[in-house]
Amino acid sequence: MTINWLFWLGGGLLGLAGLWLCYWAMFADRAKGRKRCPKCWYNMQAAENLRCPECGKTVKTKRKLQKTRRRWRWAFVSMFLWLGSFSLELTPTVRKDGWKSIFPTVVLIAAVGYSDNEWVFNTLTDRIAERNSSYQSSFMYVDEDALEDWQWRFLAKNCKRSLQKHRSEDRRKQVLWLLEQVPPYTETIAETLIKVIAEDNSRFSLEAMQTLWRLHDRDRLSSSDREATVLAILEIWGEKYTHHFHNEAAFYLVQFDPQSRIVFKTLRATAQTDDIRVRRGILTALSEFESGDPQATSFFQSLLSEEDIWSRMMALSYLTRDPKQYILCLPLLEKGLDDPNMGARSHSVQLLGSMGKAAAAMLPKLEILRKDENEFVRDEAQKAIDLIEKSITEGSIEADSP
Ligand SMILES: [Zn+2]
Repeated sequence: MTINWLFWLGGGLLGLAGLWLCYWAMFADRAKGRKRCPKCWYNMQAAENLRCPECGKTVKTKRKLQKTRRRWRWAFVSMFLWLGSFSLELTPTVRKDGWKSIFPTVVLIAAVGYSDNEWVFNTLTDRIAERNSSYQSSFMYVDEDALEDWQWRFLAKNCKRSLQKHRSEDRRKQVLWLLEQVPPYTETIAETLIKVIAEDNSRFSLEAMQTLWRLHDRDRLSSSDREATVLAILEIWGEKYTHHFHNEAAFYLVQFDPQSRIVFKTLRATAQTDDIRVRRGILTALSEFESGDPQATSFFQSLLSEEDIWSRMMALSYLTRDPKQYILCLPLLEKGLDDPNMGARSHSVQLLGSMGKAAAAMLPKLEILRKDENEFVRDEAQKAIDLIEKSITEGSIEADSP
């Protein structure tokens, strides 16, 4: 902006004027040896006693007659000049980046701990991240250098304070998001998040698990953090009954500890429910349990004869991760290729692809599915064929090499 210098110059002059006015009002009229009445400033040079002949004020000592005259009203006026000066100086910044930009980042961080104000959070988010559409966007790029280490630590502290104080769900979500961005070398945050899991609000509890899971995904949770997270989820497992909660929490449990006996037992027990939504969700989560586990293997084997197609498919998902179970799974997957249910067909195709050359005998059938009526099945069939053929080629190279 070409007129910015006008604002700066004007603001500077106004500031100087304020400074001069303040000096003049407070210090310009010193006694300099004169004796004056401190109330009406009558010259008492000639007076014999301490009583002012003009206004009648009596002072206690002679020294009181030598006070500096201070013009408080003018000093007060000078503050307005300074205010004017500040606003002129800030105007170019506000014109360029909006009025929020004049708040120093450290002020915004401090405000996080004390305020539920939406723009405090949004403005701070804008300063540490490049936003795509909204703060939830996973495409947001967060710059660790946007804040100094001490600022990150300060932010973490204020986020923790905010979690204890504030109730607005939207704001609390933003706090979790901010906490998640705190670089691990500045402040530990897992403990705080784990405490949030125990909150009454089950949606928020899930939100905390999800944040922890993303940290885990980035290798930022220690094994003791993961253990504590699993325990915290198991602690509230029986209390929250919505199928949504159980399905999502089950997923996190297995992700955090895919070998845990207690997780397996708890989930297997919950899967006994008549609620098919819960049962399917739990089995989906459990299919990611550690491969080859004897108890999980026999559990899933027992599911292969279930009537519910989803349960059978999840059982095959788990079992095909263990080559020892291929012989058991192959004929069932072959049957799945003819299933009228498109989901069953595509799932069988995908699992066969994951088995590589062990599924070589299925290639002719997969060729047929390349002309399936469903586009998704056709694509998946092509992918599976590629995977199996690649595995066969690699196998023969291995066999050829000495
Ligand atoms: Zn007087």
